[in-house]
Amino acid sequence: MCLTLGAAAMAAENDKLRATPLAIAATCFFALAISVYLIKQLFAKSKRRKPCYLIAEFKPQYNFKRVLADNSYSQFKHLKLHEADSVAEEEELNLHPYKVEISSLMKNANVGILELFDGYEKWSMGMGGEYVWVEAEEQLRELVADLSNEEVFAVDTEQHGLRSFLGFTALIQISTMSKDYLIDTIVLHDVMGLLRPVFANPAICKVFHGAHNDILWLQRDFHIYVVNLFDTAKACDILSKPHKSLAYLLETYCGVATNKLLQREDWRQRPLSEEMIQYARVDAHYLLYIAYCLCLELKQLENENSSPGDKFHFILEASRRSNATCLQLFAKDIESCTGELAASSIISRCLNDPGNISPSLYDEKFQELVRRLCVWRDLMARLHDESLRFVLSDNAIIALAAKIPTTETNIYSSMLEADSDVESVTMVPLQTPSPVVCSHLDDLFCLLRGKITKLDDILQMCIREHLGQGGSCPLSAYNYALLSKTTLGTGNRITPNHNGFRASKQVAKMASRQLFVQKFSCKSPVYHNCKIYASDGRLLCYCDQRKLQWYLNRDLAKLVEGDPLSIMLLFEPKGRPEDEDNDFYIQKKKNICVGCGEGNHYLRYRIIPSCYRIHFPEHLKSHRSHDIVLLCVDCHEIAHSAAEKYKKHVAAEFGIPLFIRRVADLDKTQNTPISLPASCEEIGVSPLQLRIAAMALLRHGPQMPSQRREELTQTVMTYYGGREITNEDLEKALLVGMSPHERRRFEKKRGYTFKHFRKSNNPIDAEEDIGGRPPVTIQNASPDEDEEDSLRTKATDAYQQDDDTILEDAKITAPCSIDTDDSLSDTKIVSGIGSISISSNDDTSGSGNLSNGTIHPSDEKETLLKNDSKMSLLGHGPHGKQVVEYLLKEHGEDGVREFCQRWRHVFVEALHPRFLPGGWDVKHSGKRDFGEFSVYKPTTIASAAIAG
Ligand code: AMP
Ligand code: MN
Ligand code: ZN
Repeated sequence: MCLTLGAAAMAAENDKLRATPLAIAATCFFALAISVYLIKQLFAKSKRRKPCYLIAEFKPQYNFKRVLADNSYSQFKHLKLHEADSVAEEEELNLHPYKVEISSLMKNANVGILELFDGYEKWSMGMGGEYVWVEAEEQLRELVADLSNEEVFAVDTEQHGLRSFLGFTALIQISTMSKDYLIDTIVLHDVMGLLRPVFANPAICKVFHGAHNDILWLQRDFHIYVVNLFDTAKACDILSKPHKSLAYLLETYCGVATNKLLQREDWRQRPLSEEMIQYARVDAHYLLYIAYCLCLELKQLENENSSPGDKFHFILEASRRSNATCLQLFAKDIESCTGELAASSIISRCLNDPGNISPSLYDEKFQELVRRLCVWRDLMARLHDESLRFVLSDNAIIALAAKIPTTETNIYSSMLEADSDVESVTMVPLQTPSPVVCSHLDDLFCLLRGKITKLDDILQMCIREHLGQGGSCPLSAYNYALLSKTTLGTGNRITPNHNGFRASKQVAKMASRQLFVQKFSCKSPVYHNCKIYASDGRLLCYCDQRKLQWYLNRDLAKLVEGDPLSIMLLFEPKGRPEDEDNDFYIQKKKNICVGCGEGNHYLRYRIIPSCYRIHFPEHLKSHRSHDIVLLCVDCHEIAHSAAEKYKKHVAAEFGIPLFIRRVADLDKTQNTPISLPASCEEIGVSPLQLRIAAMALLRHGPQMPSQRREELTQTVMTYYGGREITNEDLEKALLVGMSPHERRRFEKKRGYTFKHFRKSNNPIDAEEDIGGRPPVTIQNASPDEDEEDSLRTKATDAYQQDDDTILEDAKITAPCSIDTDDSLSDTKIVSGIGSISISSNDDTSGSGNLSNGTIHPSDEKETLLKNDSKMSLLGHGPHGKQVVEYLLKEHGEDGVREFCQRWRHVFVEALHPRFLPGGWDVKHSGKRDFGEFSVYKPTTIASAAIAG
C-alpha cells in the first residue's frame, strides 16, 4: 500500500517536472531518469508482493499506545518502584515490586477477613441491579475512587488469545457488594495503570477464583500487581472440597448455573452479547458471597479441629497460600533458537506416529523444512501480532514439509487438507490458509525452495522485507522492538546481560561458563506444553508430545488443536485438576530458569536428590514433574551446593554416612567384626577422592614426591580399612561400583587399561561367560548424580523429555549392570550402619551377606538385592537407600512426603526462585490420576486398547 502511494506521488512529481522551462531541462532529465528507474523498481516490488492483510484489517490492539509485553525476543520488564535507589548490580534484576508487602502479609495474614463481610448473611443473591460499563477514563477514575473506599472487592478477567502473540486482557470484571463493573480494557488499555494503587493496596482485599493466570495477565498488560489476595480456590483446597471449580461453587452456594464454554468466546467483540455480559458478571458478582461462605467454613473447621495449644489457623493459611500466588512474576517464553520448541515437537510427533510412516518424514530435508517453517511462523506471528496457531497449524507445517508444493493452488490445497480433520477448541472461526499465509506467500515459496540456508538469514530477511524501509507490513507497538534489535533468536545468544538478569560480575567467568553451558544445557526445549482436554473442553493438563501421541495411537483421544498440539480425551477422566489438591498440572510451563528467568540455556535440576528419589515407592515417584525444574547454570550451582550441604545434615541427623567407608576383601575380614563408624559426622572417603588418588598412584606413583604419594596412599588405605595396598587394589578402587559400560567409558576417556587384572576377572568377560544373559538394566546407574558425572549425565539428551511423560524411566535408564565378576562379588562394602554385598547370582541364597541388621530383617534379602541393582555404589547411593528405608519403616509414606518437603524448602531457601510454575508448592502432594485409562497404568491401558 505504502509502495503504491509512493509511486503515485512520484508520478505526480514527474508530471510537474515535464512542465518546467528548458533552462533546467538537463537537470530535470537527470531527475526524471532516476524517478523512472525508482518507479520501475517499486512497481516491480509491489507486483511481486501482495499487500499485507493487516493494511486492510483493523485489530483492536493496534490502538494501544503503550505495550508492556511486546513481541520481541527480550524478556519482560517488571514495574520498578524505586528507580533511584537501585544500584548498578541490581538495576537489571526483575524483582517483584511488592515483594516486601506481600511477604509481610504472608507472615501476618488477613485473619480479620471475616469482618470484611459484615452484612453478607443478609445479602440478596440476585444480579438484578444494573452494571456499570466502564469505557471512559473519567469513569475509570471514579471507579478507582469508589474502590479506594472498599475493604474488599472481587475480580475476574477475560482474555483474547487467537489474534495476538502473547494474548491480552479484553475485559476486567470488578464487583463490590453493591455494584458490578465491567471495564473495557481495550479502549482503556493505556490508562489502566490508574488501578495499580487499589490493587497494590494491602489494606484492600481482592477476591479472585483461581487467580494464578489473572495475576500474570494483569502484570503483563498493565503492570498491575495484586497485593492482599483471597483466592476462593485456595480456600477450597484447605476445606478439601470435592470440587473446586467456580462452576461448582456457584451452583453449591448460589444456585447459579454457568456455561463455561463462554470462556472461549471472542472477548474482543463490542458490544458484547447479552449472554457474554451475563457470563462475565456472574464470574465476579458472586465471588464475595462465596468467599464469605468459605471463610465461615474455615472458621468452623478451625473451631472443630484446634485444641487450645494448636495454633493452626485455617483462614490465615488460605490467605497465606493466596498471597503466595501474588509473588509470581510474568515472564515471556524465550527460546535459544526461535521456533525450536515447535519444530522439535512436530518432528517427534511425526517420528512417533505410526500412521505417518512415509520415508520422507525421516529425512533431513523434511526436518530442515519443518524447522524453517517454524522459524517463519514464529516470526510472522510476532510481526503481525497473531498466535502461532492463527498463522499456520502444525498439521499444515507437516503437510508442506512432507510434500513440497510448487504452486499457489498446491499450497492452499495441502493446507486445507491438513486442517480439515482438526476441530477447534476455540469458538473463534479459523481461516485456512490464514491471511498471513495468503498475503506473504512469496516467503513460503522462498522457504520451500530452499534458497536461504541459514535460519538466521531467514529471520533477517523477513524482518527487512516486512518491517524495514518500504516493508510490506505495518509497524506497531508490538513489533517495533523486533526491528530495533539486531540480535535475533537463533544460535547461541548466550551473553551475560541478554535477559537483563545476569549482572556484570560474571563477565570474567564467561569463557569457561559458555563452554559449560554448551556442554551441559538441554539441547532442546523441555516443555512442549501440549494440552489435554476433557470431553467437555476443560483443560486437564499440559504435557509433552509423546504423552499425547500415546493417547492418540490408542484411539483414546482426538486431536483438537494444532498449536501447541492438543487432544481431547474420548473417555471420562476420573478427576479434574481443579478438583485435586494442586493446580500445578494445569499450568503452562516455561522453558526458562525457574530461579532467575534466564531463557537462553537451562538444565534440569532435581529438587529431591536422586540418591533418595530412586528408592521411593513407585507411586510417590509418579509426580516427579513437580520436583524437576529448569535452572540456568548459575542457579544450578547454587541449588546443587545447598543440596550437598543439606545431605551432610541428613547424614548426621539419621546417622547414615554419605559415603561407603571402606571396601574390605571378604577373606580378610571374615573373622574380623565389622566396625561401625566412630562418629556420625565422619563421612568416609569420597569415591571421587578415591578415584583421583588411585588413578594418580597408578599413573604417576613412582615419579611423585614421596609426601604426596604418602598422602594419596593413605586415602586409598583408609578405604581398604587401613591395610597395605597393592596395584590390583588400586585398580579395584577405580572399578568398585562401576558397571562394565561405565568401565569401558572410563577406559576410553582416561586412556587407561586395567593391566593388573587377570583376564578372567574382567567383568565384561564374566558377563559374556554367563551365556548371553542380558546385563541387568538399572535406573540411574552410574556414579550418583551428586558426583562429578552429575552434570554430564544431566546434560545429555539421554534425559527424559518431559517430566510427565511415561517414557521418563526408559530414557534415563542406562544399559548398565552392577555385577558380577568374582573379585567384585566378593567385595563387601561397609557402610555406616551395615553392609551391602553384591553378588553376581541373585538366586544364590548364600550370596547375601547382609549384616545391616538394624535396617533389614533377613527376610528382606530379596527386595534388597533387587533394589541394589538400582543403586550405584559410588556416590550417595547406599546412603540414600538407607535413609529412605529408614523413613518408610519409621514414618511410612508420610515420612517420605515430609522428607520431600524438606528438600523443597532447602531449594527455595537457597535460590528464592522467582519463576516457579503456578501451583508449585513446598507442600505438594498432588495425585495424578486420570483413572482407568491413565498413562500411569500401562497394563490397564494396553488391554483396554486391545478390547476397544
Ligand atoms: P474465566 O475467568 O474462567 O472466564 O477464564 C478467563 C479467560 O481464560 C477466558 O477469557 C479465556 O481467554 C481463558 N480460558 C480459560 N479456560 C479456557 C479454555 N478451556 N479454553 C480457552 N480459553 C480459556
Ligand atoms: Mn471469567
Ligand atoms: Zn504482513
